[in-house]
Amino acid sequence: MDKRNGREEKINTVELAVTYECFGKCRHCSAAEKKKPGSIDVNTAVSALKKACEEYPIESIYITGGEPLLYPENTGAVARAAEEIGISRIVLITNGGAWNSESDLDEITDMIKESPFTEVFLSADTFHKEYIPLNKQRDFALKLISKNCKKVFIHPSWVIGRHDENIFNSETEECVKAFGELGFKSTPGTNIYLEGNASTFLAAYYDSESGNAVKDPVHVCVIEPDGNFYFR
Ligand code: SF4
Repeated sequence: MDKRNGREEKINTVELAVTYECFGKCRHCSAAEKKKPGSIDVNTAVSALKKACEEYPIESIYITGGEPLLYPENTGAVARAAEEIGISRIVLITNGGAWNSESDLDEITDMIKESPFTEVFLSADTFHKEYIPLNKQRDFALKLISKNCKKVFIHPSWVIGRHDENIFNSETEECVKAFGELGFKSTPGTNIYLEGNASTFLAAYYDSESGNAVKDPVHVCVIEPDGNFYFR
């Protein structure tokens, strides 16, 4: 495994991208340049996860994308593998929009309910709502609650940081409020850093100093859909 900068010593988290495929084109998307069809092979995912756990004291896995629920079977299989390996915190990060009918919605929410996710983070903010209507995200979240899957959190993205005053953050606060009125709590969210689409569409909101400062200090081992690792 490629070790870089000594930062890997602090790693206790894996972020596994089931796919880089997505139907959105969010202006802050860090995966925009990587998008291509196809999902991680489950055996490849299991090998990569085992390798990461052999080398680092992995406690958490974020199963993400692209949009992981475009491949619900593989997403569920990766979650089960993580549980078998002994990872205690298994988080699904989704935009909640990978369904086109009530039966689709039932299928993916059944999969989530039957899989060992400890939390579901629903990416909802002013950027996502341009491609996934808030009503659709709400229906997804409420369907999970109706199936007694209670650990659903809103997971917004912030330009520079939550307390920076800009139009995007104001609109995202409205999204968080709308879900809050339905009883959903939110995570602290993530600060957008200038990568992928953000470097094209949001650079004007960052000076070079703050652009550096927002980078998430948490170091994770990222497993890509082809099974490769990198650290960030
Ligand atoms: S939903 Fe997520 S993966 Fe898809 S374009 Fe938006 S930020 Fe990127």
